[in-house]
Amino acid sequence: MIIPNPSPETALDRQCEQRSEAGYLAAVLGKASHRVVIFHRGKALMDGAALAYLDPAILPETLPAGTNLVYLGRVLAGQDHQLVEGTDIVLQVLPYDAEDLTWVPQEAAFAGYRDVAQGLNALDVEVFVEAQAVANWHGTHTHCPRCGCPTESMWSGWMRRCGQDGSEHFPRTDPAVIVAIVGGDDRILLANNFQWEGNRYSTVAGFVEAGESAERAAVREIAEEVGVQLHALSYVSSQAWPFPRSLMLGFMGYTNDTVPTPDNVEVRAARWFSRDELQAAVFSGEAVVSHRLSIARSLIEHWYGGRILEPGEES
Ligand SMILES: [Zn+2]
Repeated sequence: MIIPNPSPETALDRQCEQRSEAGYLAAVLGKASHRVVIFHRGKALMDGAALAYLDPAILPETLPAGTNLVYLGRVLAGQDHQLVEGTDIVLQVLPYDAEDLTWVPQEAAFAGYRDVAQGLNALDVEVFVEAQAVANWHGTHTHCPRCGCPTESMWSGWMRRCGQDGSEHFPRTDPAVIVAIVGGDDRILLANNFQWEGNRYSTVAGFVEAGESAERAAVREIAEEVGVQLHALSYVSSQAWPFPRSLMLGFMGYTNDTVPTPDNVEVRAARWFSRDELQAAVFSGEAVVSHRLSIARSLIEHWYGGRILEPGEES
C-alpha cells in the first residue's frame, strides 16, 4: 500500500476561522514566541538546508514599505521538526525592490522551492508551499481587477479589499489534472515532453478549463497530448503546486487503446512500460522518472505497487 503523497496529515493549524478576526495578526506579532518566514522575489530565506524561522527580536523594527504580512499557522504536535508545538508562524513577503537586507543572518540565504525541496522536512514543505502560494497572490493582486485601484491586505493576509469599491479578493488556485495512464494489459503509458531531456518519462498533465470538470479535463488532455481515449478514471491524491498557483489533481486513467499518438507540440514521445521494464529502464538510465516529492512519482508508484528504486539503490 502506497501512502498518497502528500499525506492528509498536517503539521500546521492555519486558524482559518480565527485569523480573519480584527486584531488577530497584531496579537500574534505581539508575542515574542512567534517565528517569521521571509520571502523575497519568490524565494524563501533558508537556514542551511531547512527553512529559516526567525526570532522576531533580530528583525528590523520598521518593515520596508509594501511588505505583506501573512499568518501561516500554528505548529501542531507529533511531528519531527525544529519548532515547538503551538508556535505561530508569520510570513513576511518583502517588496520586490527591497534592498536593505543587511539584517539577514550571515548563514542564511534565499532559495527557490525546487532547489531545496528534497532536503526539507514535512513542516518545512507545508510552510514553504503555503508561503509561496500566498506570496505569489499578494504580488499579483496589488490592484483591484474591477476598477484598478489599490487593494489593501486584510484578514491576517488572506483577503485583499479594494479601497475604492470595497470588493473582496481571495487567493486563487488553478486546478490542473495529472494522470497516470494504465492500459488494458496493466502497463503504464508515460510521456516524454519537449521541455525535458529525451530519456525523462512522466505522467501527462494539463489545466482544467473554465466550466469543465476535472474528469472531462483529464479525458480531453490525454486525448490531445498522447492520442488515447480514457474510459475510466479514479482519483488518487492532490498536490498544491504554487508555480504560480496550481492544484494538481492526481488520477489513474484507464484506456483500451494501445497505440499512442504524441501531439508533437508538448509531447515528443509516449511509451508503454511494464513494471519490470520500467524498473530496469530506470536502473540502466534509459528512463528517468520524476523525483520522489512529486505527485507524478507518487501516481507512477501507485500503479507500480511500491517504490521504484533509483540507480545505485539496487539491492
Ligand atoms: Zn475596485
